[in-house]
Amino acid sequence: MGIDPNFEENREREGREHGVDVWGPTDPPETLGIRGTHVAVDFDICLADGACLEDCPVDVFEWVDSPGHPESEIKANPTNEVQCIDCMLCVDVCPVDAIDVDPGRENRL
Ligand code: SF4
Repeated sequence: MGIDPNFEENREREGREHGVDVWGPTDPPETLGIRGTHVAVDFDICLADGACLEDCPVDVFEWVDSPGHPESEIKANPTNEVQCIDCMLCVDVCPVDAIDVDPGRENRL
């Protein structure tokens, strides 16, 4: 199952890390939650495939370390989500549907 596209209704914002919002629940290192709001990555699904980093035309994603996480020891963090141009390439290439992009989400919060 991929990222919940309605996570902002179903989860609580717990704070910020690596420059983006953190949506819980979190229980590190095994459970890291969803990261980002306009460009959101479910860190508990991300397996560090890297296609989003390679394909994003405006370099939204950066690797961050996630030692001890069961899926992968690095994650694609949407550090530069303010640069997103909503091309949806990352959503299309992610093999595990860990990414959701919604330019209107911040306005609904
Ligand atoms: S939608 Fe396009 S511009 Fe936005 S993060 Fe994904 S690949 Fe980058």
